Amino acid sequence: MSSAELYVQKQTTHHSPKMSAPSNLTYAASQEPRFLVLFDFDETLINHNSDDAVLRAMPCQQLPDWLKNSFRDGQYNEYMQKVLAYMADQNVSEDSIHSAIVTIPPTPGLLSLVQFLQNQKQDFELVVVSDANMYFIEKWLEAAGLRHLFRKIFTNPASFDESGRLVLLPFHSHSCPRCPGNMCKQVILREYLANRQKERGGAPFQRVFYIGDGSNDMCPSLALGPRDTAFPRRDFPMHRLLLGIQQSQKVTFKANVVPWTSGEDIVDCLKNIISER
Ligand SMILES: [Mg+2]
Ligand SMILES: [Zn+2]
Repeated sequence: MSSAELYVQKQTTHHSPKMSAPSNLTYAASQEPRFLVLFDFDETLINHNSDDAVLRAMPCQQLPDWLKNSFRDGQYNEYMQKVLAYMADQNVSEDSIHSAIVTIPPTPGLLSLVQFLQNQKQDFELVVVSDANMYFIEKWLEAAGLRHLFRKIFTNPASFDESGRLVLLPFHSHSCPRCPGNMCKQVILREYLANRQKERGGAPFQRVFYIGDGSNDMCPSLALGPRDTAFPRRDFPMHRLLLGIQQSQKVTFKANVVPWTSGEDIVDCLKNIISER
């Protein structure tokens, strides 16, 4: 018996002896969500790239050429480490970084989508998978009042040190040839599904939904099965790559593909899916 069930029983016995035991409450407390929804952060939850938006915290709002030119393909995490160190050298405060992040607007219709998912929270488990960083994502979600909706955030660790510098680290290391060294979202998805299935007494999710926009959202989408759905933001890199895959027929893509412009498009699709039992 779970602790939640114990709590319901105790409460019924001691505090409301005349009420009949709410049997559906005991059931709801022990029931796990049927569906998993994974959200990317930049250009998916928020309507901007947080690594670009943070530059607005600097008085001149742009980086020197020597720093921009130091970027190497596939080493974006290392590059952002240098950008954040440079901002600390320029005495950009945590306050100005915080306000540059929390003022980023959500993507169109995202709040409707999140509201819908909150209303159906017995059915949906929500997770963030992002190559941004923990500081940006947590602060933005907290300011939007949405942090509590997400069971887990998978992203690069970042926190301010004593000198006032936002220190960024890679999330993990992996051996996927398709992804940058600091993060493979497919590895994250596979490990999460395996861990959750164990925790759920062997029960897998009925369906997995992946909402993204970027080229690094392709790798996890390739792991989705025929009951799952990939939601690429229309006309963004993930969408273009998916169209390419569908035309080339060299790679088999198993999941359904539903491009979206607004979060409302995703709500419409999810409504149809949950209505079929
Ligand atoms: Mg993105
Ligand atoms: Zn990968």
